[in-house]
Amino acid sequence: MLIDTHTHLNDKAFDADRKDVIARSFAAGVERIVEIACAPGEWRQGEDLCAAYPGQITCAFGAHPEYTKTMPADLLAQLDAYMAKPCAVALGEVGLDYWWDIGTREEQLALMNAQLPLCAKFNKPAVFHARNGKTAAQNAYADLLEALKKWDHRPARRFRGVLHCFSGSWEDAKIGLDMGLALGVNGTFTYKKNDALRETVKKAGMGNIVLETDCPYLPPQSSRGQRNDPAHIPEIAVMVAGHLGLSNGALAAATTANAFDLFGQL
Ligand SMILES: [Zn+2]
Repeated sequence: MLIDTHTHLNDKAFDADRKDVIARSFAAGVERIVEIACAPGEWRQGEDLCAAYPGQITCAFGAHPEYTKTMPADLLAQLDAYMAKPCAVALGEVGLDYWWDIGTREEQLALMNAQLPLCAKFNKPAVFHARNGKTAAQNAYADLLEALKKWDHRPARRFRGVLHCFSGSWEDAKIGLDMGLALGVNGTFTYKKNDALRETVKKAGMGNIVLETDCPYLPPQSSRGQRNDPAHIPEIAVMVAGHLGLSNGALAAATTANAFDLFGQL
């Protein structure tokens, strides 16, 4: 079984053929999908998508740092209601993004920190977004991991969160793993220039990674420039297995077990 732990299937990029894309993804061997509804305007759509695919699609609800400056006053009350829904499996994606000019470090941290208590309240993990800025001083990973030292959510499961679309250094990965965070591996693993990421994932090992597409963004090397979708998960899995010296079956079993250790039942 393969799982896509991070999709944005409600993106308008899928408006013309969403059902076909999802059918093709299941036919390709992806048996579970975690949709990420990361703005208040997407939460209802996320719930509806889960309702259309019971037992196959579940959802994370949260507010991405991209929306730091545009949050409604009753954000937390609304989010609380969505986190209580049976289809909710995580908070997210939340975090820090220093690439785009979307709010100061303090504003972004405030938005994330306001949401994190919902993990303990609902016993759910968090899906974290971190993207460094254009200068070395704009280190989102360092700031995120420092902030999470104060995060006291300790679920019974092995992982309490995931560093989705991991793009940090091995030092960042090591700190995250020690904190009980899994690493989300996607199409960026297949990019020609990403030798450092491949080595980091190898050091982390199959016990600490989950697979994702982050579709419609970040298609694997073979499809760069095109729309991404969950049917690319098998291709990403084969490349990761090859790099780690594992059989495809072993990689699929390990990453699926890790996804359950992160989200619980999907
Ligand atoms: Zn995402």
